Amino acid sequence: MQKGKKIYEGKAKIIYETDNPDFVIQYFKDDATAFNAQKRGTVLEKGIVNNKISAKVFEYLEANNIPTHFEKMLSDREMLVKRVKIVPLEVIVRNRAAGSLCRNLGLEEGSALFCPVQEFCFKRDDLNDPLINESHIRALRLATDEALEKLKYYSFRINELMLDFFQALNLDLIDFKLEFGDCKGKIILADEISPDTCRLWEVGTGRKLDKDRFRHDLGNVEEAYQEVLKRVSGKS
Ligand code: UDP
Repeated sequence: MQKGKKIYEGKAKIIYETDNPDFVIQYFKDDATAFNAQKRGTVLEKGIVNNKISAKVFEYLEANNIPTHFEKMLSDREMLVKRVKIVPLEVIVRNRAAGSLCRNLGLEEGSALFCPVQEFCFKRDDLNDPLINESHIRALRLATDEALEKLKYYSFRINELMLDFFQALNLDLIDFKLEFGDCKGKIILADEISPDTCRLWEVGTGRKLDKDRFRHDLGNVEEAYQEVLKRVSGKS
């Protein structure tokens, strides 16, 4: 697979063309941003860790009938993925209160939720990715009704699967963010699934093993990412 021109550079990843129009290369950087890029930094080897963790999670989800853009790992920092048109929505699923849910609704961090919460944010950096609802999505035609139903179904199913996956590694999945893409008319899971996009707390101790260590300067950021990789790779 020949690596071609850079198509897009985001905060944590770069997308390159390949010689096959149906596939692109997703390259993971060490750059970290938080609070709508107001806080910037690097986390040593984060790109390598997130590439490897994402690959493992995508493989697991594919094995459980969730279509994803993942094809194969190409190198430590690169994976080959299907070319998609990204749906301009972030789908967030929450099992316990944290982050913006606590800020917006006055909840205590870690408090239980009677059932999982699903949220949509409009992917617009210039607007700070605002929280929107299904009615906004229909009115602004951000997704068709059919696509929206898929996003809702897949994200709840992915939550069930990922709860099991991380529980087996002694990690509590607090919340996470997903992005989906349209691949030849079919909605599939895209982007990444990593400690950058999930909140993961060690069962029992509540130790945070995710991007909150970077966001809130909790220290041992690299170690936390490496710890998740170690568990996901079955070396714990
Ligand atoms: N999240 C993400 N990218 C975003 C916003 C959120 O990956 O642009 C993830 C975040 O890491 C967490 C979940 O989505 O696992 C819920 O995020 P929340 O809205 O609480 O984020 P905060 O405002 O606290 O960063």
